[in-house]
Amino acid sequence: MQLKKIFYLIIFIFVTKFCFSFYAILESNIVREGGVLKIKIGNYSELKAADIIFNNQKYPIFFVGYNYREREYVYNTIIPVPLDTKTGKKNLEIKCLFESDEEKYHKERIIIKPLFKEKDKLTRINTKGKIQGDTLSELQRENKIISKFQEKYTTIKYDLPFMMPISEIEPVISSNFGKTRKYDEANISWRHKGIDIAAPAGTKVRAANHGRVVAAYAFKAYGNTVIIDHGGGIYSLYLHMDDVYVRTDDKVFKGDIIGTVGNTGISTGPHLHFQINIFKVPVNPYELM
Ligand SMILES: [Zn+2]
Repeated sequence: MQLKKIFYLIIFIFVTKFCFSFYAILESNIVREGGVLKIKIGNYSELKAADIIFNNQKYPIFFVGYNYREREYVYNTIIPVPLDTKTGKKNLEIKCLFESDEEKYHKERIIIKPLFKEKDKLTRINTKGKIQGDTLSELQRENKIISKFQEKYTTIKYDLPFMMPISEIEPVISSNFGKTRKYDEANISWRHKGIDIAAPAGTKVRAANHGRVVAAYAFKAYGNTVIIDHGGGIYSLYLHMDDVYVRTDDKVFKGDIIGTVGNTGISTGPHLHFQINIFKVPVNPYELM
């Protein structure tokens, strides 16, 4: 009797594995605001379509390749958890459409935690009168242009992890991701969308991962700027640079020198503002490094 049960159980496992080999793996269900959710999906046949729904947004998935050993098609996507997302529990839904037109759902519970303790959140910045009405409207204008460069979601070119864009010296982080910065004289504040790496002017800046340059642009407020598309909706941004050695449409590899650290635009000293956006949402770069 016992043997019969085991036999049926083995048959059951075999059949379910064979017919429903679709699976989705989430690296972690616990994430901080400004963090990311890494999702891997595998299936024995090609998927017709798939979406991920999280935080009232719909995200695509990207084909990574066919795994011959496991005989499966592998997909992945990295989803941003925006700064100021309400902490607590949230649902994440994975919706897959198979070649047979059959649909399958997979649900996950995500727990969102705050990035900092409240007291560690604020930094006051004295820009010596540099941030005023004119500058604010200039920043808004440049934000719009920068956003335009990140409209396309191309195939995955990156491989994890991303590297620190400065490697010749030990990087000193002068301002962390997510800090609320209050600009005293202008009485405004916003949260820092990247990390500031303090380094002498002329220090080499490297591409954090493989990709294609979508912008090499001289902005008034953000200074000399490079934007790289890494595919999968991920873009890296390098601001306030001095020299820029790349041009739009250049293909770059992880570690390629793209320019040097500078003090261009609104900046209080030589540093690199390094930012990673996923589907246009700034995330903590350390989550990918
Ligand atoms: Zn910065």
